[in-house]
Amino acid sequence: MQYISTRGQAPAQNFSQILLGGLAPDGGLYLPVEYPQVSGAELDAWRKLSYADLAFEILKKFATDIPEADLKALVHRTYTPAVYCNARKGDDAAQITPLHVLEEKDGNKLVLQALSNGPTLAFKDMAMQLLGNLFEYALAKQNAELNIFGATSGDTGSAAEYAMRGKKGIRVFMLSPHKKMSAFQTAQMFSLQDPNIFNIAVEGVFDDCQDMVKAVSNDLEFKNRQKIGTVNSINWARVVAQVVYYFRGYLAATTSNEQKVSFTVPSGNFGNICAGHIARMMGLPIDKLVAATNENDVLDEFFRTGVYRVRKSAETYHTSSPSMDISKASNFERFVFDLLGRDSARLAALFRKVETEGGFDLSGKPGSDGDEFRKVAQYGFLSGKSTHADRVDTIRDVHAKYGVTIDTHTADGVKVAREHLTPGVTMIVLETALPAKFNETIREALGRDAERPAGFGNIEALPQRFHVMKADVAQVKQYIAGHTGL
Ligand SMILES: *Cc1c(COP(=O)(O)O)cnc(C)c1O
Repeated sequence: MQYISTRGQAPAQNFSQILLGGLAPDGGLYLPVEYPQVSGAELDAWRKLSYADLAFEILKKFATDIPEADLKALVHRTYTPAVYCNARKGDDAAQITPLHVLEEKDGNKLVLQALSNGPTLAFKDMAMQLLGNLFEYALAKQNAELNIFGATSGDTGSAAEYAMRGKKGIRVFMLSPHKKMSAFQTAQMFSLQDPNIFNIAVEGVFDDCQDMVKAVSNDLEFKNRQKIGTVNSINWARVVAQVVYYFRGYLAATTSNEQKVSFTVPSGNFGNICAGHIARMMGLPIDKLVAATNENDVLDEFFRTGVYRVRKSAETYHTSSPSMDISKASNFERFVFDLLGRDSARLAALFRKVETEGGFDLSGKPGSDGDEFRKVAQYGFLSGKSTHADRVDTIRDVHAKYGVTIDTHTADGVKVAREHLTPGVTMIVLETALPAKFNETIREALGRDAERPAGFGNIEALPQRFHVMKADVAQVKQYIAGHTGL
């Protein structure tokens, strides 16, 4: 399988060649030349597979240059009940992403699919744990090393650190805003004692951290010498790892391929729901893909109007579902490429317009950039948004009706899912985090603390290992060089 750039100006590459990278050299995102198709007979056979075996069947269609025996070993090492052990009481952890039925009424089923049972209690572990094993495997083959450098306001950084801890050939340097993360998130990251993990607490805000990452990435000489890489959400391997749980959710919720299922996905950078789009393009019988946003409603605006308008920092709100607080959706370009019939020249022009004018308009109105918005429905997309008051109400309501505590991001999903129920179609809401991670809002909604999975009881008390630094690019470069010895 070869991969091409959405912007059409980069050479085609295989899976291993794009594994360790981010953007294509022309500034686009990689996608397979064509989506592999899945037959009804395959779906039938896959219904009884374990999660790891299903992941193998799907990934081998995309990672055709990795020997099958190696790929099989990698997924079996990744998707184990020991790694995804934090299931809700009564759910079967061995399922890896167990379904939890909330409601079954008038032919309508409302179901949670738990994606947050991994080590950092958020869905990013689903892909990142595989990425850690794939990176280690690829680096060993090339006898190479990689220094991952990034910035985090919480979920991504901890998922990356838990995936890369102890991996040969890999170090992680992670910037976070000093004293700005929740006590739980801070403890999760800073309590790691692995010598290949470096937590750097920057005296500033998240944007200062991100600016430092950009400044280092723009210094190509430093970047090459220090073998700097990233693990951000545009990485293709992360997207494709997420395709697996859409298949899993569908197969676990149905008994025949005649049945349709819709998914509602709490969305920020469009990585998670982009995987749903790919699963649907492969032939998985998904009815609707519903993007749920919080007050940062870039995606909801597009799916309602056809206008994509990125937000300025002053218009990007800090909300109680912070992992969805985005100003633009970095994976959205992948969907727009398909929506435009894979016309890379037009795609490149639209995303240049995002840089110069802050967006584009596909509504088909006079003066717009095209009329492809009329085709969005063919791809199954719908959307909705939620506010802090909605989240609190939904957490309270789901707890009262079903005795289940959900986190703030999942609450955005449930709120929007309820607006898009169709008789006879099961609605699966992807549960993207466990409530313990966002306890402040749980307390506001329920008047008590969220339950913590075993082993997280008192992580705030564990010894912490981190380095405090000013928001100074020269200093962070010196720190990295001092610890890589390169
Ligand atoms: C990252 C994240 C999201 C958003 O996912 P995208 O792939 O960026 O759309 C939603 N919920 C939680 C808990 C997350 O960590």
